[in-house]
Amino acid sequence: MNHQNESTGVLVIYTGGTIGSIPKNSKEPNSPLVPLSKEDVDKKENPLFSLIESYDSKFQQIVLGNQSIRLELKSLDKPIDSSNVDPAVWTEITSIIKKEYENYEGFVILHGTDTMTYTTSVLSFMIDNLNKPIIVTGSQKPIGETRSDALQNLITAIEIAAAKSLNKPVIPEVCLFFRNKILRGCRSIKYSASNYEAFRSPNLPELGTADEYIVINESIIRKGSTQSLQILGGYSPKVIYLKVAPGMDLDLIETIVNSEKIEGIILLTYGTGNAPSLPGFLNAIEKSISQGKIIVNVSQCMSGEVELGLYDVSAGLLSRGVISGLDMTSEAAYTKLCHLLGTHQDNPSIIPDLMQINLRGEQSKSIFNLHFGSGSMDVNQKSLTLHPIKDMVDAVPSMYNSNFIDKAFLRIMGISEDEETDFQSARGKVYIDMENATSKSAENIDNYLGKFDKRWEIQEGKENIFFTITNQAKKFIDNRHHISITIINENGRKLRWEKMEIGIFINSY
Ligand code: ASP
Repeated sequence: MNHQNESTGVLVIYTGGTIGSIPKNSKEPNSPLVPLSKEDVDKKENPLFSLIESYDSKFQQIVLGNQSIRLELKSLDKPIDSSNVDPAVWTEITSIIKKEYENYEGFVILHGTDTMTYTTSVLSFMIDNLNKPIIVTGSQKPIGETRSDALQNLITAIEIAAAKSLNKPVIPEVCLFFRNKILRGCRSIKYSASNYEAFRSPNLPELGTADEYIVINESIIRKGSTQSLQILGGYSPKVIYLKVAPGMDLDLIETIVNSEKIEGIILLTYGTGNAPSLPGFLNAIEKSISQGKIIVNVSQCMSGEVELGLYDVSAGLLSRGVISGLDMTSEAAYTKLCHLLGTHQDNPSIIPDLMQINLRGEQSKSIFNLHFGSGSMDVNQKSLTLHPIKDMVDAVPSMYNSNFIDKAFLRIMGISEDEETDFQSARGKVYIDMENATSKSAENIDNYLGKFDKRWEIQEGKENIFFTITNQAKKFIDNRHHISITIINENGRKLRWEKMEIGIFINSY
């Protein structure tokens, strides 16, 4: 039964971090900080709430504006410095939320700042069907210290979580609140180690601001779910980051990316997703993917988006099966991959596609791929018509329509010839939804996607052909018909490709 309408008040979950830290040795104020223990926090006059002037410990209530709001505190069994956060801690947090979900209108999580954005990201993925605010906050200085930022962060987080009682817009998302910014949790990054304004979400406007007034940017808030809350608990931490740098030792890279234990790699690339196009590097990546590892391309830049295939130096990654992290933060990409690896162990082949779909507002677009697989055409074969392995009509989610399409591409990748000739070549034309197309068919029609005419030295490896098919995709998404791609080979030589797919970029809605 859903008690959401009756539930009031806020539960604060204390996990540790600077906000509740004290010097290890009480006689030496400069000794290293350690988090308050559960016993300290469980006291009625607990050190976290006792500094809130309008908090009444007898009735466990805080006064906000002219409203009294129930305020309760629960500590993790062993509060930690957030540098030690791990999946077990996330499980403990989500178990508390699951257990108490119907009893409160909102939740505040007190957390260290160091890994706060990992926790806000992973909780976004783990908590399904959220309908109440979960506001994660902390501070740069412990709550008892002079000039600490803790009290303001704590009280404002409580106020945001209690929006329903205060008749303010409710944000049914995992948020990060710090200083004066309400950010989507899975979009946030820690920007400064010491500024009070420590977090930002460079690729998404703030969900709200809390200056003199709390102002919510309602147009970008995600809708709460009407279904019952679920915790998706699987998590595989066998994922590493690999940050590309000029002049990397290729043997080292080869050893790392092909290590047996790794299941996924977040490849931190330059700019819009570029990396060295050295054959040794690309071969190592290709081998790793062929062993079933998932490699996600995320930019080293703080803002902007990976655009695989925009430059030749990223097309090589795309054709070898590296997938795009679009404009995800590295924390969101990392935790999303661990989450998907842990929750889809029975069907890992869908993880690369799911990784590129927006799940919780962590990316501005989704890339929906229609796969055609590998293929080849014989010397004498003039044309070949192909259909997606899983038909468009069954594969594309029904909510996608042409209004949401940003762009679409047809990519024919890993093109090579069998023979070891001095040079390789590919020449021909491509049509969509025109199975009887020939080399004489009209080129001024919508079904015509374009020409390819490439010639390359064998040591240059394999080639890729990309066509922009945005207008055609808009039509087939709306009509939902069975689509076909017809390739006309005008070269008189064998044509072979490793992968063909249509990538449809859908703006998140
Ligand atoms: N090391 C602390 C932590 O992350 C830093 C902080 O909370 O600001 O727990």
